[in-house]
Amino acid sequence: MKNKYQASDSIDSVKEWALRGMRRFSFMIIFCILMVLLSGVLYISKNNHTPNPIEEIEHPGRKKVAVLYIATGNYIKFWDQFYQAAEKFFLPAHDKTYFLFTDKTDIQVPENVVVVPVAHETWPFITLKRYHFFSNQKRYLRAYDYIFFMNANLIFQAPIGDEILPTKAAGLMVAQHSGYWDAYDLKWMPYERNERSEAYVASKEGKYYFTGGFYGGTSSAFLTLSETIANWTDIDLSHGRYQVWHDESFLNRYMIDYMRDHQPVILLPDYIIPEERLSAMKANFPGGIKGILLDKSRRGGHGWFRQFNPAKSKNIS
Ligand code: UDP
Repeated sequence: MKNKYQASDSIDSVKEWALRGMRRFSFMIIFCILMVLLSGVLYISKNNHTPNPIEEIEHPGRKKVAVLYIATGNYIKFWDQFYQAAEKFFLPAHDKTYFLFTDKTDIQVPENVVVVPVAHETWPFITLKRYHFFSNQKRYLRAYDYIFFMNANLIFQAPIGDEILPTKAAGLMVAQHSGYWDAYDLKWMPYERNERSEAYVASKEGKYYFTGGFYGGTSSAFLTLSETIANWTDIDLSHGRYQVWHDESFLNRYMIDYMRDHQPVILLPDYIIPEERLSAMKANFPGGIKGILLDKSRRGGHGWFRQFNPAKSKNIS
């Protein structure tokens, strides 16, 4: 027979058992409520994700890219081959729109090509005027993330991807000229040496010599470059001054200033190797050549492509 102490002990242990059960039950309820709240917060934050603009540039997703291409006179002969290769190899993960600056009126183009009518001018005015052509389209070009220019005879051979896209801080992308990328002395660089020209580069200035056949950047950096050089071109032409390599001389002057406070993307010349130097250059780039500048002399010659009129160019030095 149990005594009164034994009876009260068993009542206490039943109470304790019941209390423990209730505690466990309330813990479970609180845990479930917390889980429901947490999944709600996660769902809302996932669906309201606002991309950070810096993150977007540093890790580009699908970008809007404008490709600027000039083809007046017989340079239009390169267009189809250029377009097919660029569609296949140039930034294939991004949305490209081509701006085709041409004097041809009867041209049929695919949907992602905008024809911009321009008048053909005698060389070198046609190549010098490029920065005016670009600046004149700035209201449309501003809508793009990136803008690139390529010479008409540059044919891509291998995929070109995000390695060429500068960050917002870097701004521009330029490629070293295949003729000067391994020059070890600044005096070999063919910068403009006329002190009166806007393209003038002093003997101790510079480090690289960039090609005028392939460059680009964020739309804002590219349009600033274009407007600045269009202005320099006007100043030089108003004084009858011509630069040793025209638009390329201005580009190199601009980049020397630009690199004082920016670090642009600088490509090796394997993106733009002249066809006539291909076999000599191949050994330098075991990974393969990405772009070839087709040799105009094998296809009709410079004069034929430019519809060159020596009478109109007699004042050009
Ligand atoms: N260009 C053109 N028509 C001409 C001359 C040049 O459309 O009559 C354009 C074309 O895009 C060419 C670029 O300007 O690729 C540079 O021409 P330039 O003759 O200065 O350079 P090169 O072709 O000799 O590298």
